[in-house]
This record gives sequence, structure tokens and C-alpha cells, in this order.
Amino acid sequence: MSSLVGSLAGALLLMLPAEAAKLQSWQFDRAQNQLSFTTDEPVQPRVQFLKNPARLVIELPNTSLERRRVRQNETGAIDEVEVRREDDELAQIIIELDNDYTIDPAQVIVRGTSSTGWTVQLPQPQPQSRSQRRASRDQPAVAVAVMPYVEAATLEAIELSGNQVILRSDRPLSDYSSGWDQATASYQITLPKTQLARGFTTPRPEPRGSLLSLRARQQETSVVLSLVPAPGLQFGALEASGQTLALNLTGAAQRRLGQVNRSPLPPLDQLPNVASKQIKVAIDPGHGGRDPGAVGIGGLRETDIVLPVGLKLAEILRTQGVEVVLTRQDDREIDLEPRVSTANRADVDLFISVHANAISLSRPDVNGIETYYYSTGAAKVLAEAIQESLLDATGSNDRGVRQARFYVLHHTQMPATLVELGFVTGAEDARRLSDPQYRDLLAQAVARGVLHYITQNF
Ligand SMILES: [Zn+2]
Repeated sequence: MSSLVGSLAGALLLMLPAEAAKLQSWQFDRAQNQLSFTTDEPVQPRVQFLKNPARLVIELPNTSLERRRVRQNETGAIDEVEVRREDDELAQIIIELDNDYTIDPAQVIVRGTSSTGWTVQLPQPQPQSRSQRRASRDQPAVAVAVMPYVEAATLEAIELSGNQVILRSDRPLSDYSSGWDQATASYQITLPKTQLARGFTTPRPEPRGSLLSLRARQQETSVVLSLVPAPGLQFGALEASGQTLALNLTGAAQRRLGQVNRSPLPPLDQLPNVASKQIKVAIDPGHGGRDPGAVGIGGLRETDIVLPVGLKLAEILRTQGVEVVLTRQDDREIDLEPRVSTANRADVDLFISVHANAISLSRPDVNGIETYYYSTGAAKVLAEAIQESLLDATGSNDRGVRQARFYVLHHTQMPATLVELGFVTGAEDARRLSDPQYRDLLAQAVARGVLHYITQNF
């Protein structure tokens, strides 16, 4: 039964007329020494180099030509370009050099530029003497390699679903590679010969989801994804299935419960507006200018963390109706005294100093968040609100709410706290603190703690 079906199919195929393509256009660019041509259907050219005269013969099987023969005379080393129909099913394009010139066929580049377009790039023709020409007389034809056009895959969507990241393409993805990238402190998936779909948008990881950050970018002919997992999660194997590629996360996300609450924190994306309370807050990004603060793994500098977090925190609080005073808003060095006097003169209601922590570079295992206060009472409650919100948003290690006699805490005349957002010397913290999206999350979390305190206490 099956052999009968097979032979019938074979017979049918033989009876089908060969699908002929047409040579639609061709052009020889004299300045570039480049031939380009297009056909109306895909063809597979064969290219040979022959001697005496030196010439390239480009054969287009199953391709027809309206006119039987078209010649274009060239000047200089190229003598002529001829397009001709060899028989009903074969068109030829011949690039013929002047007798006194030749080319190295190994340097000819034949490349598909689309499914129906090709270029033939010739090297610079070299003069040859009469004796060289005579010596090459009996040399056989040389086949020239043809590089077919490879169409790029299109990455159409990325979906985040539970502990899976799913990539959807318009064709099966292969040749991908993945691994940790030290420079960006993220896990990278590289998809070669792939482009992002028109209007592609990268989904935003959910707060408290399995990813801290996700980015997709076009890098030449590849798409590169950078992912940072939530603490406690690891990336597993990539699984290809049809046109999708799935990345699995394994492990249990580290979730720390805050202290028992008088009233629960609002969700991170539903911060209260407190404009009616007319509160003024000083934000003090630590260090700056010639003082980079702590310097950690990979040269990560405290000042490059606390300034963006401080500015973002100011922006969020202003949006929620708080008047904000910043002790610095650019990369400049400021002593401790003017930071304090700025807050005291402006008569702010709360003072928040933003720092990042450090310990020896030989202790990458030390990671986590600390919040400090000096005077017990309001400052301590404020510190607790900020610490609780940060732990809830990030899942970081809880290194506690602590009392310390920091200058900015005991010279300010209002409830004041100093938050250490993480360790620039900690392996996990440094990786996260390098990520702008994570820094935005930190700012959002500090803002939530401050706003929660305001709604409870004013
Ligand atoms: Zn500091």
C-alpha cells in the first residue's frame, strides 16, 4: 500500500513542469566592481571562474530571460558583462575581463541579499603579463562559493508565566546560547539571526514575581535578552519546542515577612496621595563628587547607586503630594554639616539619608538591608516602616533596624533615618544594585515606607 502511494507521488512530481524563474533586473556597478541581480522566484546560482579570457560565469538554473542576449560594454579591466539564455532553462551572466587582467577567484564573494536578490563582489582586477596568460591557458574552471541568503527569525513576544519565561518566534529558534554575563551581572540569552518584531515591547516583571528585571535588545543581527532572577531563584535549562523557547526558574523565592503590623503596607503600585497633609521631606543621597562612598564588586560605587535612588525617590514622593528638599541632585561633594543645615533651615518634617553598605571584598556572602535611627520614638517608627517596605519589595536579607550616632541623624532636628540599601561588596546585592530597574524598585519601596508613615502619623 505505502509503496504504491510512494510511486504515484513520484510519477506526479515528474509530470509537473519545472517552475521557471525570470531574471528581473541586473546591474554592474563599475566603481564597486559589484554585480547585483534579482529574480522573480528564488534561484540557486552556480558560479565558476574560467581563464582566457578571465571571466566569471554565473549560471541561473530554471531561469528565463526575455531577450536572448544583452551585452554591456565596460571600460578598464572589465571588458564586458553579458547576460544570455543558454537554453530554455538556463540563464547566464558572464563578467569578462580584459585580456591583460585577471582576478583571484578565491576573493569573489557571492551572497544572497534576499530570497530573490544576489550580489557578486569582485576583487580588484590585477594586471597579468602575456606569459602568465599563456601559462594559465589549460587551467580548469574554478567553482566559486555561494553564500545563500539566511532569513532572520522574528522574536514576536516574551511571556512571563509563573516560574517560566517563554519566548515566541515566527519559526523554530536554534543556535541560541545562554549564560551568566559578568559585565552586566545578568543572565543572557543570545538569539543569533533574529530580529525583534515591529513594535516589540518587553513585558515588565511583576513586583514580587520570579524576575527582578528583563530586557531585550537588538545587537546587530542578534537579539540579546538580559534577565535577573528574584533572590533564591535560579535559571534552569532552556527548552525549545516548536516556535517557542522556555526558560524555567527553579528554587523558592526568599520572602521575608515583615514585623507584625499595626496596619498593612499598601501595594507598591498603589501608593497613597498625601498632598492634604502638607508634608515636607529632605532626601539626602550620600557622598558624591570626589567622594564615591564605598566601592565594591566590579568597581560598583555607592554614589552611583544612591544618587539615582534619591532622585527617583524625590520624584515618586512629589507625585504623591510631598514637598521634597534634596541635599544634592547631581554628582557633587557636600560635607555633612551643610546636608544637616539644609534640612534644618527648610524645616522639613522628615529626613531620609540614602546609602549603600560595604564590608571587605572577601565577604561577598554578606548581603542585606539595614535602616538606622538615632533618637527613639518617631525616627525609630519611620525607620521600621522603611525597612519593612524594602524587605517586602525586594526579599533581601533583613539586617535589622539599628540605632547609631551618625552625624546626619543626631544633628537633624526632625525624625531622621539612614537607609543602607544593600552591600556593594555582596555578590547578590552588587548584582542587583547595578540594575537601574532594581534601583527604581528600591526608590519605590522607600517611598512606600515614608508614605505609610505619613498616613499613620500626620
Ligand atoms: Zn555611605
